Amino acid sequence: MKTSHPVILWFRDDLRLTDQAALLAAVETGQPVLPVFILDDTSPGRWAMGGAARWWLHHSLAALQTDLARYGCALTLRRGDSAAILAELAGSTGATDIFTGGSADPWARRLDRTVSESAGAKFHRMRTRTLFHPDSIRTKTGGAYGVYTPFANACRALGGPLPAASAPEAIRPANSVPGDRLDDWGLLPTKPDWAGGLRATWTPGEAGAMERAKAFLTHGVESYAAKRDQPGVDGTSMLSPHLHFGEISAVQLWHLAHQRPNTKGRDTFIRELLWREFCANLLWHHPGLPETPLKPEFANMPWREDKPGLTAWQQGRTGVPIVDAGMRQLWQTGWMHNRVRMIVASFLIKHLMIPWQDGQAWFWDTLVDADLASNAGNWQWVAGSGADAAPYFRIFNPVLQGLKFDAEGDYVRRFVPELARLDAKYIHAPWEAPALALAAADVRLGKTYPHPVVDLAAGRTRALEAYAQIRSGA
Ligand SMILES: Cc1cc2nc3c(=O)[nH]c(=O)nc-3n(C[C@H](O)[C@H](O)[C@H](O)COP(=O)(O)OP(=O)(O)OC[C@H]3O[C@@H](n4cnc5c(N)ncnc54)[C@H](O)[C@@H]3O)c2cc1C
Repeated sequence: MKTSHPVILWFRDDLRLTDQAALLAAVETGQPVLPVFILDDTSPGRWAMGGAARWWLHHSLAALQTDLARYGCALTLRRGDSAAILAELAGSTGATDIFTGGSADPWARRLDRTVSESAGAKFHRMRTRTLFHPDSIRTKTGGAYGVYTPFANACRALGGPLPAASAPEAIRPANSVPGDRLDDWGLLPTKPDWAGGLRATWTPGEAGAMERAKAFLTHGVESYAAKRDQPGVDGTSMLSPHLHFGEISAVQLWHLAHQRPNTKGRDTFIRELLWREFCANLLWHHPGLPETPLKPEFANMPWREDKPGLTAWQQGRTGVPIVDAGMRQLWQTGWMHNRVRMIVASFLIKHLMIPWQDGQAWFWDTLVDADLASNAGNWQWVAGSGADAAPYFRIFNPVLQGLKFDAEGDYVRRFVPELARLDAKYIHAPWEAPALALAAADVRLGKTYPHPVVDLAAGRTRALEAYAQIRSGA
């Protein structure tokens, strides 16, 4: 039966119209659809969106408004407590149902419960972000997977996700209701405007996501396995912020990738999508993942209080070139290459012995792809305290990592211009360069570029001792 009462389509971090289960379910009711996005800084608590993600959100919402306008629909924007706003909207419009999707982060699940109890409309929660429902992937005994490979095998054994759904042909628009203007939300930086590098790098929105996916799958995926660890080349998809904001679904990417020839590159790419799935699954089963070490003994880690070290790391002025290049790439573009994320995280946690939570918080504020599950899962992985984590004795040597993965120093040259003229032989350890080589490259250590904030060998020994201490329970 068609009624003139609307249904509410509550967009969250799934800002697209294709393969959007909540949108399709709303359209299928035959009732007018009222699309809504709520900027809610209360419900997430300390996980309210960081600065770089807000920049992305602004542009993604602008793109969604344009896409919806083609259907004759307006996106209603509201700011405040989601549950209160949805209850008010349902009451004032007489909406019968609320359809929504988005992440299953712990705070979002709590919010789901509140909305379903308080909104006064029937609440429908759809899966719009992951390949599979987290509860559909369990061990034989019904438990949660704690190791990646069996988890990935279990996903593959399901034969892949259901096909991606098309965008609806039409959406019956609901009468408009009062809402905010996007420009009034102040999501973009003003003074200083730090977003120049972000604007030059990204095209947020569903169309930009699809364009990047197609370009990567046509030209990049075959060489992905060979190039994905080299930060100086465009070897990865750079789809993570699009995936985080749900401008393209993991399901779409899975199927698009399977339309390409079966190569090692394609298989490796699918493996990475499954790492994302693994992290989402971990957070589903361990809601404390962003705060608490999964391995309890790590709570006793003798972390150091080192404000100057943390600041040097954040600003890309540690004196260790590959670390500084990564941290500056992050600041300039809102993104960092995965290999370098591992190196900078290892450096912070192990060489500086600063808590992984501090690094996680900085990433949260500065990454355009900041994602609660992937960020926490990976920080804990590097720390050694997480699921299937790096062994505690694996301490990346940033110099050797640089020489191996950025052999010509292209990546360092790009983001640390004060070292650009240094010979590749020395660019990852300028403190070892002869005075003549430094002078020829116009590098004055301690003046144009800092001395390392920590002696790498001593830092490594200190970290190993600390890890031995917690392992022995001393
Ligand atoms: C300390 C640390 C923090 C991280 N924080 C985040 C974060 O907040 N958000 C985030 O999306 N990723 C995070 N990652 C994972 C990874 O670095 C990025 O997903 C990847 O660099 C994104 O670039 P890409 O899209 O070119 O990846 P590609 O190499 O093209 O991979 C394709 C997709 O697979 C997924 N993926 C790849 N590697 C991983 C991984 N290790 N874990 C989970 N998913 C993965 C991403 O969605 C990515 O877009 C973090 C990694 C580390 C080491």
